[in-house]
Amino acid sequence: MKSSNFMEVTFKAISINESFARLCVAGFCVQLNPSIDEINDIKTAVSEAVTNCVVHAYPKHNGVINLRCEIEGDCIKIVVKDQGIGIKDIDKAREPFYTTKPSEERSGMGFSVMESFMDKVEVEHNGDKGLVVTMYKQIASNAVQVSDAS
Ligand code: ATP
Ligand code: MG
Repeated sequence: MKSSNFMEVTFKAISINESFARLCVAGFCVQLNPSIDEINDIKTAVSEAVTNCVVHAYPKHNGVINLRCEIEGDCIKIVVKDQGIGIKDIDKAREPFYTTKPSEERSGMGFSVMESFMDKVEVEHNGDKGLVVTMYKQIASNAVQVSDAS
């Protein structure tokens, strides 16, 4: 039978919490028996999504980030949500090298990195405030073990 599980945390949008978020997701994913490469891919994608909230979402005040992970069968779904300024043109923001902060040496590659390390990335408005980034990844190494066991 396919298992399901979830976890959810909310934390302040400050850079020290980028590593917290990464480790939090990695710790939760362990139950899927991911390979080191898969865990590193997930950590990198989570880092980019959380860093975006820290760097872009709240230019004027301190805000929070909500991080939710769901496991359904062999797939991990990660949702990173903020209630910040949001993005006017999401399609444009997702283009490689597009950044609104070139002066801060941002390269505009965050969304591209998320897309390359995860199977699917969705970016949507969080109601009328902020952004929701949802990322999916199939854990292949776990799938092999499951079929071996049957
Ligand atoms: P890099 O990730 O390479 O350091 P970057 O953050 O500018 O640079 P992306 O992560 O691809 O590049 O994001 C593209 C643009 O989308 C950002 O410059 C910013 O304008 C906008 N953006 C991304 N995430 C958010 C967010 N959570 N809230 C508001 N704007 C965002
Ligand atoms: Mg970024």
